[in-house]
Amino acid sequence: MVKKVLKFGGTSVGTVERIQHVAKIIKKEHEKGNQIIAVLSAMSGKTNELIDLSKKITNNFNKRELDVLLSTGEQVTCALLAGALIELKLKAKSWMNWQIPILTEGEHSNARIVNMNVKKINNFLQDGIAIIPGFQGISKIGDVTTIGRGGSDATAVAIAKLFEADTCEIYTDVDGVFSTDPNKIPVAKKIEKISYDEMLELSSLGAKVMQSSAVQTAMMYNIPLEVRSTFTDRKGTKIFEQQNIDYSKSVTGVAYSKDDAKITLLGVEDRPGVAANVFEPLNKSQINVDMVIQNISSDQKTTDITFTIKREDLLKTKEILKNNRRINYKDITQNDRVSKVSIVGAGMVSTPGITYKMFRGLADENINILAISTSEIKLSVIIDEENTLNAVKKLHTIFDLD
Ligand code: ASP
Ligand code: MG
Repeated sequence: MVKKVLKFGGTSVGTVERIQHVAKIIKKEHEKGNQIIAVLSAMSGKTNELIDLSKKITNNFNKRELDVLLSTGEQVTCALLAGALIELKLKAKSWMNWQIPILTEGEHSNARIVNMNVKKINNFLQDGIAIIPGFQGISKIGDVTTIGRGGSDATAVAIAKLFEADTCEIYTDVDGVFSTDPNKIPVAKKIEKISYDEMLELSSLGAKVMQSSAVQTAMMYNIPLEVRSTFTDRKGTKIFEQQNIDYSKSVTGVAYSKDDAKITLLGVEDRPGVAANVFEPLNKSQINVDMVIQNISSDQKTTDITFTIKREDLLKTKEILKNNRRINYKDITQNDRVSKVSIVGAGMVSTPGITYKMFRGLADENINILAISTSEIKLSVIIDEENTLNAVKKLHTIFDLD
């Protein structure tokens, strides 16, 4: 007998008809003799709608109460699915976060699951289907918490771990993980198998199909994942350990995001400790600096420092730089019309010349590179936002992904 966690995202449970369709998928899996735990998101758009309601009261809505509010989205889909399964003559039951309970640590809206009582649900799984809300839990003192947007993926993986499930399947509105965004680049191909590391890079670099912290947990505990569509029977993408994958291509996927901004400090004094003085207060304010470039000074006295941050942190970053009495510089410039384009592939480690090939490809398209960062299995560049799709297309072609 196989124990499976099946997670259904917002579009998969977006209407009553879709919930009935999900019930049929679960019925089929159950009839194969599998034990099923279903983890659900709220109906698509619901969580945003609830956030908007809170904003009508105040932009500074109480955090504890916001979690109480946001957790209701999943309560609705869980009850509807349980009802739909019971209607199909199956034994099914939903549990709310506090009934299980799903224990979390950390602050409201950003908590993380640490434990769960598995005994009563495990007993129920002998002949019944268990339904659990994603995205939420309770704190040590019993308050409802949520675990960050897109958190149902993390719930599904945590449940797979704590219940020692054999697999965790992420049902969504696309057929799997693609070599790049199939909505924008129609020649994108579905990837059959991908390693945790690559998936982690792709999802943190802009591929939206799975939450990156969920992939990280799956990797840590070696939980096999599959991303597949709720709306077709096609095979999805399997995500597992790297040893089991045979790399015929150096690059597996091309990701992009428009979440970054670039800042340049012009005419900074060039002496030991300056970079530390620039970045220390940013670090203290939890502003994540991604890429850094420091030019060699031509006059030996001053230099320019360029770095990238999340676009949403731009105002705060400038504020901090302006109030920083420990640095002297001539001017600050900024650019928030940039995007980050990345190639990812475990096969890159063993293929020479990838960097050159990427830069040549971008040069051929007349695309200027503003910043670069690398790791063993990824290479990212910052470019002007207007060139994004051109760059993605070109890289997809030259690395044989079309
Ligand atoms: N409903 C939550 C959200 O929209 C959690 C999820 O769907 O994963 O962020
Ligand atoms: Mg999601």
